[in-house]
This record gives sequence, C-alpha cells and structure tokens, in this order.
Amino acid sequence: MWEDLEVTLEKIENEKKKEKPSAEELGFGIHFTDHMFMMEWNRESGWHDAKICPYQDFRMDPAALVFHYGQAIFEGLKAYRGKDGQVYMFRPEDNFERMNSSAVRMCMPRLPVDKVLKSIKALLYLEKDWIPVAEGASLYIRPTMIAVEPRLGVRAADTYYFYIILSPVGAYYPEGFNPTKIYVSDEHARAAKGGVGQAKTAGNYAASLFTTQRAKKEGYTQVLWLDACEHKYIEEVGTSNIFFVIGDELVTPPLGGSILEGITRDSVLKLAEMWGVNTMERPISIDEVIQASRDGSLKEAFGTGTAAVISPVGEFYYKGETFSVNNGETGELSEKLYCELQAIQKGETEDPFQWVERVG
Ligand SMILES: *Cc1c(COP(=O)(O)O)cnc(C)c1O
Repeated sequence: MWEDLEVTLEKIENEKKKEKPSAEELGFGIHFTDHMFMMEWNRESGWHDAKICPYQDFRMDPAALVFHYGQAIFEGLKAYRGKDGQVYMFRPEDNFERMNSSAVRMCMPRLPVDKVLKSIKALLYLEKDWIPVAEGASLYIRPTMIAVEPRLGVRAADTYYFYIILSPVGAYYPEGFNPTKIYVSDEHARAAKGGVGQAKTAGNYAASLFTTQRAKKEGYTQVLWLDACEHKYIEEVGTSNIFFVIGDELVTPPLGGSILEGITRDSVLKLAEMWGVNTMERPISIDEVIQASRDGSLKEAFGTGTAAVISPVGEFYYKGETFSVNNGETGELSEKLYCELQAIQKGETEDPFQWVERVG
C-alpha cells in the first residue's frame, strides 16, 4: 500500500508510543498522535521525500522565512468514528482544494490533492486507535505548509515543508450546546478586501489575537468582525462564518475576498436549501441585526466551522450595549443543522451530497 504512493513508512517503536488521553482529558489541540505525514518541496525536485514517520520536532534555521515573514498556510478537518466502527472524513478534497487556493495567494507550491488524500487515509489507518469514540469527540487533522529556506529578504521561499499532524479532540460542548456571547469590534478588523482574508494563512490569526483578548477580558467568547472599510457590514465570528435567521430568511454575508470560504458554511447553505429554507447570501449591516434584535425578527444567530460545527450565539455587545438573540437560547434551525451535520459526518444518516469519505 505504501509503495505505490511513493510514501515511506517509518513506524514508531512500540515502547515509545504515547499513552492515549481519556475522554475527559481530550480538550482541543492539546494531544497529538504517534505519527505524522511530512514531505518537502524545492524548485528542482518539486514535492519529494514523502513519509509517514514518528511525530517529531523539526530542526530549522533561525533565518527560515516562515519565522520572519509569515509564509505559512494550514487547514483543519476532522475524522470521525461512526457507531459502525468505520472511520469517516468530511469533504476532505474541499479542504485540499482550498489549501491550494491559499497556496496560490501566498506564492507557495500547490499540493497533489490525490496523493495527499491517499497519504491522509494511510496515516488515519495507522492511527485509527487514536480516534476517540466518546460522543461528540473526533480526530482533528491539521495539514500545514511553511517556508523553510533561510534568507532575510522579503520574497517567496525556494523550499517548503508540508506536514499533517493529528489531534484527538473532545466534544466542543462538554456542558451541552450553549449559546455564546460575542463582542462586536467597531475598532479593529480581521481582514480587508484585497488582502489575504480568503486564505487560511497564519498572519490572519495573529492579527486577531489583540481584539480577541480584549473580548475575553470583557467576558465574551468571540469577536464578531465587521468590514475593514466602514465597520458596518458583518463578516465573520472568531474563526467561523456567521449566519442569522431574520424573519423567515437564513442569511450569511457573501464571500467577497475578505471572508474565508468555509466548508461548513457551504454545507449549511446546501442543507438548508434542500430543506426548503429561504437562504440568502447578501451584505448584512450591524444596524440591520440590531434593528432585528429590537423588533423581534432576529430569531437565531450561529457561527459555522469545522471545530464546533454549529456555534449558537445568544448575546452580542456593540458600542456599550448588549443585545440578546432568541432570549439567549439555542434556535431550532441551529439545533437541527448541528444534529444533521453530525449524523452525516459520522455516517449515521443518508449523505445526500456525497460529502463523506470512508477511510480504509
Ligand atoms: C477555517 C475558518 C472558517 C471555517 O471554515 P470551515 O471549512 O467551515 O472549517 C471560517 N473562518 C475562518 C477565518 C477560518 O479560518
């Protein structure tokens, strides 16, 4: 199996295997499995030296370009173990197509999607005992690409690493599906049109830390980002896309270059349309949302992303005032979307769009 992928396999010695965390210890992104996938790129050879090897440190030159100018991109997806014992991935090809779009924007090499998918399946098969079985738990997959050439000078690197690490993660809602409180920033922005907001690139997340810390200090979980130009139109919430139910319409901001094209966002739009929900991608101003909260037409608000799938919003803060959504309770559509998406992701229900990929 490994030979025809031209991927070498170096297994960890049995006695060096880590102890697996218990369901209570899981958390998010704390524990990592015993093996990783790794390959290198340079101009002469393209991608080469692909291997599945023990999880290990890198040796890197302190002048590596990634440390100075942030040429780094990543992805996030999950593998689930279904009740039938099978391992499932959700829309993995879309993640690697998106990674290639990020790569193009950041002047990095594109990935051979087929080959990477096969390697991920091989890695998951090897690490299948790490996929937690607890309710809501999964194995988070983090593909990453970084510029490793040592050079001080702002330009695209000539050498890169691509690697995939795996982290068993617990239920995102250990205390149940409770709505979060979010902080609307009218001062900072996540990304501007013409910038790199559409790419899953490291700097976007560094840029968000300051405002997120401020929100947390004020008792809010996430920042609701407005557009960088007028601070008027809603863009995203934390590292998730955002949806509102206003009247009988499910609305989300249109992708305009500054918004990350979420795979969960797309899945929600497709499912809701299939159910006959009136869905719209259109600009939504913060004033419209406040007005809808005041007149009672704001029925639901929720974030969408791989980590939490659906994250209901119960309250938001804007310019010294707080506004509640659905009396701080989880809305009907939010709950229905969460249950249906989880069931599809775990292979427990019909998969009308062929989103799920069985491993091994
Ligand atoms: C990853 C990400 C999302 C969600 O994308 P999914 O494919 O649904 O996980 C949304 N916004 C930002 C900024 C992100 O980085």
